[in-house]
Amino acid sequence: MAQKARLLIVEDEAAIRSGLVDVFVYHGYEVETAEHGDDGLRKSLSGQFDLILLDVMLPGVDGFEICNRIRQQDRQQPVIMLTAKSSDEDIVQGLTLGADDYVAKPFSVTQLVLRVEAVLRRSGFGEDSAREISLNNGVVIDTENLCAGDTVFTRREMDLLQYLCQQSERPVAREELLARVWGYANHMEIETRTVDIHIAKLRRKIEFDPANPEAIVTVRGAGYRLMLAEQ
Ligand code: CA
Repeated sequence: MAQKARLLIVEDEAAIRSGLVDVFVYHGYEVETAEHGDDGLRKSLSGQFDLILLDVMLPGVDGFEICNRIRQQDRQQPVIMLTAKSSDEDIVQGLTLGADDYVAKPFSVTQLVLRVEAVLRRSGFGEDSAREISLNNGVVIDTENLCAGDTVFTRREMDLLQYLCQQSERPVAREELLARVWGYANHMEIETRTVDIHIAKLRRKIEFDPANPEAIVTVRGAGYRLMLAEQ
């Protein structure tokens, strides 16, 4: 793995937590931990992790609630739930709340590492970002040189364009953009306006008529969607 995946482990049992840290550090991951549910929730919503390993039974907020809150904010955040219980009911609840996978304790470490790798692959982790983004209005953006012809983009504008490009099959909510592009966890009105301001600047750069955008469209109640040229 060229790029280190950032993993958050939310687990209250010290022995299991330190065992998992050892294993994933050994496999080249950057690992952060939380042992209390409340701390786990805060870190889970930070948008800083490529994957979250989430224990179900925790002091404070439990793993199901954390998963639920993650999904409200970000449908794409990879999550694997860990639990001592393996009843079908728990598995169904976990998957209904949107965990990507479910591993019952006691688990084989090798199995868990393989599951983590599979979920990361499905999430598109480590894929090279496109060198060019071709928009439906004919504008072609050079993502390496941060430009489109004479128009120059800031690093943040390019991160925003690249995230929208990766998710171009759907509109992306402002809260999700704040979490994934800015790394902001607790969005406030002032912060969602940050997204709008950046979108407005981008529209002035890539739209022929910024008042009637065609490339970055606003989907009412859902967010912004980047319209790519048809392949
Ligand atoms: Ca536990």
